[in-house]
Amino acid sequence: MANSPAPTPEALAELRERYRVERERRVRPDGTRQYLAADAEFGYYAADPYVETSEREPLRDRVDVAVVGGGFGGILAGARLRQQGVERVRIIEKGGDFGGTWYWNRYPGIHCDIESHVYLPLLDETGYVPEWKYAPGEEIRHHAVRISQKFDLYADALFSTAVTALTWDDTNKAWIVTTDRGDTFHATYVITATGTLSELKLPGIPGIETYRGHTFHTSRWDYGYTGGTPDGGLTGLADKRVGVVGTGATGIQVIPKLAEDARHLYVFQRTPSTVDIRANRRTTAADVGADRPGWAGERRDNFLRIVSGDVADEDLVADQWTATAGLLEKLLPSFRRQGDRAAFEAEYEVADAAKMNEIRARVDKVVTDPETAEKLKPWYRYACKRPTFSDLYLQTFNRDNVTLVDTADTHGIERMTEYGVVVGDTEYQLDCLIFATGFSVGISGVHSGRLPVRGRQGVRLQDAWREHGPRTLHGFTSNGFPNLIQLGGTQSASSVNYTHVLDEHAVHAAALVAAAEAEGALIEPSREAEDAWITLLAEGAPDHEWFHAECTPGYYNAEGRGRRNGPIAYPHGAVAFHDLLRRWRKESMDEVLAARDQVL
Ligand code: NDP
Repeated sequence: MANSPAPTPEALAELRERYRVERERRVRPDGTRQYLAADAEFGYYAADPYVETSEREPLRDRVDVAVVGGGFGGILAGARLRQQGVERVRIIEKGGDFGGTWYWNRYPGIHCDIESHVYLPLLDETGYVPEWKYAPGEEIRHHAVRISQKFDLYADALFSTAVTALTWDDTNKAWIVTTDRGDTFHATYVITATGTLSELKLPGIPGIETYRGHTFHTSRWDYGYTGGTPDGGLTGLADKRVGVVGTGATGIQVIPKLAEDARHLYVFQRTPSTVDIRANRRTTAADVGADRPGWAGERRDNFLRIVSGDVADEDLVADQWTATAGLLEKLLPSFRRQGDRAAFEAEYEVADAAKMNEIRARVDKVVTDPETAEKLKPWYRYACKRPTFSDLYLQTFNRDNVTLVDTADTHGIERMTEYGVVVGDTEYQLDCLIFATGFSVGISGVHSGRLPVRGRQGVRLQDAWREHGPRTLHGFTSNGFPNLIQLGGTQSASSVNYTHVLDEHAVHAAALVAAAEAEGALIEPSREAEDAWITLLAEGAPDHEWFHAECTPGYYNAEGRGRRNGPIAYPHGAVAFHDLLRRWRKESMDEVLAARDQVL
C-alpha cells in the first residue's frame, strides 16, 4: 500500500499519543453547534449567483413522478424512469439548471477527485468519453445537462423552485407537492434525491456579521468580484488581500488558483488535510478502452469492487483511491465490526502509519520553509478525514504572496472585525474573505424535517421515526408513506463513487415505479419487511465508536463526538447491496406492491 518501512511498536505508540494530543487541541465543546446555517441574516450566502429568477404561473396539474432534486441523483432517477417508459417526470430543483453540487460549486480549480470515467454516469448510454482522468467541474456540469437533454428531462422540470411539503392524498392515491413558487400539484410517485452535503455552512466566528469586506462561500463563487472562470484568471483579485478559511477537499483545489492571482493570500487552516499525488492528465478513448460497448459500466464496477475490498482480476483505474482501499472501505469496517483491537493494531495501524508517514514526508519534500511544512502535516489516521489529492496545493506555500495561518490552538479563527480576521495577537486585514467551510451533513434529506412529509392519516415522517429511528426497506420505502422512494439515504449502502451508488438506487426506484404501474399497485413495504431489514442492519452494524472517537474532529465524526455522523448503513458494502437489490427485484418485488384500494 505504501512504500515507507513498517513502523516499530514504539513508533506506533508515539504516533498514537501524538494523534491524541493533536485531537485534544481541536475538539470544541460546541461540536456541530459551532456552525451557522446560511439563512436569516446570512441568507445572502446561499443566494443563486448564476441565474436571475423569472416569474412564472404556479402549476396545478398532475404528473406521474415528482423528483425532488436535480443533481445526479434526480437526473439518474429521471433517466432510468424514461428507460422504463414513464412519461410525466417532473424534477424540481432549487438551482437554475441541472447539476446539483456541480451546479452550485464552480469555484476556480474545481475538479472531481474520483476518476471521471467512473464518476460521470451514463457514459455508455450517452457515448461521451471524458477528456481528463479527473474532470474539471464544468465538464461534469455539462454532462449533467447532456443526460438531461438526452432523456428529455427539461420538458417538465421546475428550476429555481424548492419543494416545501409532500402530503399523501389517499383519495387521489397521489402526493400533493407544494413549492415555494406557489405550485400545488399531484404526483403519483415521489422520488427524493436531495443530496447529503447540499446545505452550505458557515463558521460561527464571533463578529462574523461585523466584517465589511467582500465575502462569499466557495459553493456560490462571485466571479463578478473576482473576475475569471473556473480555470482561473481571477484578475479582480490582483490588488486584493484575500483570506480563505478551510483546507478540506474544496480548499485544496481552490487555494492554488487564488494564490496565482491575489495580491496576497492568507490561508486560515485549522486541520491540515492529507494531500496525496494527483497526476491528472488528458486521456483518450483508447486509454480507457472506450471503443468497446459497455466499457464504462465495467470500469465503474471494477472500481467499486476494489474500493469495497472485493476481489478483482485487474485494477483498471489504478489511482490513490484503489491503492488505499485497505485503509478506507476494505479493512476498516471489518476491524470495526470485530472490535478486535489487537488485530487492528497489528494490521491496520501499521499500514495506516506507513501511509501517513508517506503523506507527511511529501510535505517535507515539497514545502521549502520547515516551519510552514510542520504546520501542513496531518496528525491523524488516513480514514479520519476525506483524503485529498493535488500536485499544486503544497507547492503554493512556497510562493511569496501566500501566508499560512494556523488556527488550531484557538480552535479556528478567534473573531472577526470590520476589517478582517483575528488569530492570536494578530489582526489580518482583508479585502475579501472566502469560506471553504463545507456543508452540513444529512440535513437536506426528508428525515431532517426541513422538507415536511405527511403520509397516511397525516402522520409526519419525522414523527414516525422520532422514537425508534428511521424505518425503511432497503433505505428506499417506508410503511405509511406509499409511493415515496428516497434515494441515497439512510439504511442503504454508500461508497466514495457516489454517482455509481445513486445510479443503482435510480435503477431500483424506476423498476419499483414500473412494477407498480404494471400491477396497478401502490409501493409500500409492510412493517414486517421493515423490521426484518432493520434487524439485518443492526446485526451486522460495525461498532463505530472507538475508531472515530480517536479521530480529529470533522464532519465524519460529528466534530469529535466519536460517533460517525453518517446514517446507519447496510453492513456488507455497496457491491453486496447492489447484488441484493438485483436479486430482490427478480424474486421478491411483489412484497412491496399492494393493490391501490388495499390499506396495509
Ligand atoms: P470540509 O467540511 O471538508 O472542510 C471545511 C474546512 O473548513 C475544514 O478545513 C475545517 O477545518 C475548516 N473550518 C471550519 N470552521 C473553521 C473555523 N472556525 N476556523 C478555521 N477553519 C474552519 O468541506 P469541503 O467543502 O472542503 O468538502 C466537503 C466535502 O465535499 C468533501 O469531504 C467531499 O466529500 C466533497 N468534495 C468533493 C470534491 C470532489 O472532487 N469529489 C471536491 C470538494 C469537495 P477542520 O478540518 O479543522 O474542521
